[in-house]
Amino acid sequence: MGYEDVYRRSIDEPEAFWGEEARAIHWHVPPRQVLDYSKPPFRRWFVGGQTNLCYNAVDRHLPERADQLALVAVSTETGTTREISYRELHRDVNAFAAILLRLGVGRGDRVVIYMPNMAEAVFAMLACARIGAIHSVVFGGFAAHNLALRIDDAQPKLLIAADAGMRGGKVIPYKPLVDEACAKAATPPPKVLIVSRGLDPAEPKVAGRDEDYATLRQAVGDEQVDVAWLESNEPSYLLYTSGTTGKPKGVQRDVGGYAVALALSMRTVFDVAPGQVMFSTSDVGWAVGHSYNVYGPLIVGATSVLYEGLPFHPDAGIWWSLCEKYGVRTMFSSPTAIRVLKKHDVDFIRRHDLSKLRYLFLAGEPLDEPTAHWINDALGKPVIDNYWQTETGWPALTLLPGLDMKPVKFGSPGFPNLGYRMKVIDEGTGAEVGPGEKGVLVIQPPLPPGCMTTIWNDDARFLSSYFSHFKELLYSSLDWAIRDEQGYTFILGRTDDVINVAGHRLGTREIEESVSGFPAVAEAAVIGVNDELKGQVPVVFATLRQATEEPHERVRAAEGMRRTVEQSLGAVARPARVYIVNALPKTRSGKLLRRSLQALAQGADPGDLSTLDDPNALEEVKKALQRGPEAGN
Ligand code: AMP
Repeated sequence: MGYEDVYRRSIDEPEAFWGEEARAIHWHVPPRQVLDYSKPPFRRWFVGGQTNLCYNAVDRHLPERADQLALVAVSTETGTTREISYRELHRDVNAFAAILLRLGVGRGDRVVIYMPNMAEAVFAMLACARIGAIHSVVFGGFAAHNLALRIDDAQPKLLIAADAGMRGGKVIPYKPLVDEACAKAATPPPKVLIVSRGLDPAEPKVAGRDEDYATLRQAVGDEQVDVAWLESNEPSYLLYTSGTTGKPKGVQRDVGGYAVALALSMRTVFDVAPGQVMFSTSDVGWAVGHSYNVYGPLIVGATSVLYEGLPFHPDAGIWWSLCEKYGVRTMFSSPTAIRVLKKHDVDFIRRHDLSKLRYLFLAGEPLDEPTAHWINDALGKPVIDNYWQTETGWPALTLLPGLDMKPVKFGSPGFPNLGYRMKVIDEGTGAEVGPGEKGVLVIQPPLPPGCMTTIWNDDARFLSSYFSHFKELLYSSLDWAIRDEQGYTFILGRTDDVINVAGHRLGTREIEESVSGFPAVAEAAVIGVNDELKGQVPVVFATLRQATEEPHERVRAAEGMRRTVEQSLGAVARPARVYIVNALPKTRSGKLLRRSLQALAQGADPGDLSTLDDPNALEEVKKALQRGPEAGN
């Protein structure tokens, strides 16, 4: 059957379709009902079924593939490679689960994980899944403020942190950030487990709170821990993502639906069978890391390659040498990473034997055509643009080479994935737009298995953030899109104030709040401006409490803003440029005209200015742009 037929069946007969797909995973108790949609848009998949992500990812493979590699964790930062078989993974995950139990973590408790791409991060996630604890991995590049916000929302019983991460050979100690976050948080975790790689031995322990992984690991030995059988709809994990407010949203995922969606996608999208190898360059702190570095490949009994380090260190051939060494079949990365590699000689790719490599998938941000062409020519393999969101958990728009390879059209991530009932609609009328017309990309609920079930502890925010934009009950992706005559969808950017920096999703409001935390600042507007390498970069326009024309003071203030953002949110959010102005363009009702600012900063038409309160503000911005930034370049 071709894509069209399978897709139609997934949409027209979802219960029959997903009922069959559910057989791909192990159920301790099979589901009673495939879909409960009695409270739209909330839906429950595989009701009454009992299963466990860890069991499906690890235990289930022991009879057939105990000695096969499950995980290869390569770090070009620490210079280590760990090849871990399913048997070893089972042993380490059990030991980690035993440690969690000793630290008082139980079913339904939250555990925040703050670690880079190292094997113990994977053990920790699977150990949580094993005992029914809810993990929330926080990207290691985020700083103390971000970590504190997530701690206060998730209220974890335990925080697991590495002693440090490394980037480009530089040690980035995590422990001081953990201590700062715990001090800032209203409800700090009672226990902190430090997994030390000996990178930052100097940090003192907080008595009664801090525990040492190596000591506990020795104490538990080869202890085994029973799997907690969870109802399919119990939460498996939370993953925080940026929205339009300063408070991140805890995207909540279930157990059974997620496992079934991942198993299906490993076959139909990524075309990876048991025993084959997948290499995703994502960080475990992102949605791709959860789904295709950890759960997806392991659920199907494949080998997952996890990488810590820069893509061009020790040289720009490192990823391709790993593809060669481990016989990687499917590789998954981001457009930004490829743009970085594009600066290096193509021979770094060509000199490797990539005969086993079948596809390169790229996700997380728009894939520009020059980059797609470059890597396609260099590899001579299909380059597949993948559109998804933290919320969806698996690709929403894609080609499905494991099912039916359609021609790649550069600039488009392709077609709706199985189970996704997608439309492009007019923002005002809600009517479906025709081919070639711009509209908002929406998903008609019920959302397929694998997508978020709600926002942690906040059903009302789930409804208002995603389902309140149109008269009809529809999930808004908050992305503009266009469809061509053949049904290929093109993504045109966000409808909200979220920006995408090197594939990292940041809320401009979060950055504005952080900039405003710098004492000299009266008010700030943050926008995303196109950048050749990173896709977009944050740019600040700020007014000062005490206006000054003194260049040194202006530079000092601007540098202070950049530092403040870096310290509170992390280096990913650091503004590329800061402009100091005497007024910001606002509407008469006081709303910042971010879109006009963005247009001006990119040399485009600022659009409808009829609501502008003070025309001088716009002139101010134009002058500032001509003059150049006070900080950045
Ligand atoms: P995140 O939740 O961090 O993965 O960010 C999701 C957002 O990234 C989407 O809403 C899009 O704006 C953007 N995005 C992800 N994948 C793509 C893609 N393939 N093409 C264009 N934009 C993308």
